[in-house]
Amino acid sequence: MSFIQWLAEGWGKVRRYYLCKLRKGYVERSLLRRRGACRRCGECCSIMFRCPHLEGGNQCSVYERRAKQCRAFPIDARDLRGRFSSCGFYFVTAEEVAGERLAGEAL
Ligand code: SF4
Repeated sequence: MSFIQWLAEGWGKVRRYYLCKLRKGYVERSLLRRRGACRRCGECCSIMFRCPHLEGGNQCSVYERRAKQCRAFPIDARDLRGRFSSCGFYFVTAEEVAGERLAGEAL
């Protein structure tokens, strides 16, 4: 990993901390558009350094008590750039969310 990429990932970490602490409404709205599931690849647990709570098989030893910014990853599509593009989560557009609601109401 290049130094620039390392810095960019560090900036993402700071950004997520800021959003989880001070922009909770944004995080809640954005997570409404998140789909998919965690594949336990461990990539988001190795940003800048490997998390000391990450155990073999990419299991989190404090999963039920993990920090908000860990729980919220990825907050939005910006978090899925670079090596996180294979994350099991993805984001749909607001229009797609509206379409899902309409489809749900039609059932
Ligand atoms: S990068 Fe995505 S799939 Fe991988 S551990 Fe993190 S949330 Fe799960």
